[in-house]
Amino acid sequence: LVSRMQSFGTTIFAEMSALAVRTGAINLGQGFPDTDGPRVMLDAAKAAIDSGRNQYPPGPGVPELLDAVAAHQERFYGLRVDPTSQVLVTVGATEAIASVVLALCEPGDEVVTFEPYYDSYTATIALAGATRRTSVLRFPDFAVDEESLRAAFSARTRLVLLNTPHNPTGKVFSRAELELVADLAREHDAWVVTDEVYEHLVFDDSVHIPMATLPGMAERTITISSAGKTFSATGWKVGWLTGPTEAVAAARTVKQFLTYVASGPFQPAVAMALGLGDDVYAELASSLQAKRDLLCEALQASGLTVSRPRGTYFVIADAAPLGAVDGLEFARRLPELAGVVGVPVSVFHDDQDAARTLVRFAFCKQDDVLVEASRRLSRVR
Ligand code: PMP
Ligand code: GLN
Repeated sequence: LVSRMQSFGTTIFAEMSALAVRTGAINLGQGFPDTDGPRVMLDAAKAAIDSGRNQYPPGPGVPELLDAVAAHQERFYGLRVDPTSQVLVTVGATEAIASVVLALCEPGDEVVTFEPYYDSYTATIALAGATRRTSVLRFPDFAVDEESLRAAFSARTRLVLLNTPHNPTGKVFSRAELELVADLAREHDAWVVTDEVYEHLVFDDSVHIPMATLPGMAERTITISSAGKTFSATGWKVGWLTGPTEAVAAARTVKQFLTYVASGPFQPAVAMALGLGDDVYAELASSLQAKRDLLCEALQASGLTVSRPRGTYFVIADAAPLGAVDGLEFARRLPELAGVVGVPVSVFHDDQDAARTLVRFAFCKQDDVLVEASRRLSRVR
């Protein structure tokens, strides 16, 4: 294994899902829903298979999905992108992130991101031979710290890798925070790559603000999303990016040699789903909000301190009040203590002290699963 990848072993998600299987614990570790997305979308994929759409689709994506992504950006955010030159379909958001970072970063360039970070960011930055510079979002409110963010920028900054709503914190970036990032990106003439896979999973009165909607930012912003989260189809691995023609063309060049094309029959099905009514989008968010409340209450009742998320399907809890001193060790013991699996947040940090005793739990599970998890969690006290 090349030296730049040697610090990356098995992902924490694989480790914790295997632990859940081995111990029979309820898996609130890896984030994936235990119910399927809209029935009509599933039927559309079957219909695509039955109608023979089983060979290589066009490299950039099937035309109806390119159109649907463009229509989605306009419908929800008033953003206009040209479907043929400013949209690229990818194998999940993961490939979108990889193709754009590999397309835009030279070895030695710097990428500014926040920590905790989604694990593929660090691996992808390393693959590109670039260096990450981070600013810490601190429990429990995870506010952006202007001083450390400013300090993360330098003359070598090539891009900012942003994620809102944010995994694993459940934070939804405010307009003021996004404006600060935008100002710094402009000052350093950097690209902003914004991972918005949880764009429709926001709660209460929170509003998701796409970076590309800020004045003057569309021309330097590449926006990424995925059907995995919006339509509860993480296994389909249909994602996309939109942005300025030049950046999309660069990502397309790289993407050709990562996977060539994305999976054929799922693309028309996702295109159809993107056009579903507002009620479909709203129902997912409201059902997740109720699940958030259920799990947050259970964690609190069990003695953990909770940071109530405004978006995503993750909640971070602090196990320190239970006497935990090491979140990784606590997470590894949790199946035995309580028959539940969570993910230690320290694995998403460079600064280990920022997350010593924090654990992330996923609540994208059926209510009876969450109720049973809550019952089990009451044992850890
Ligand atoms: N970005 C974030 C923030 C995520 O949480 C995830 C998935 N869990 C991804 C990207 C990857 O998405 P996909 O499965 O579509 O590749
Ligand atoms: N995005 C999901 C999570 O954060 C799944 C990640 C994965 O399995 N790579 O849990």
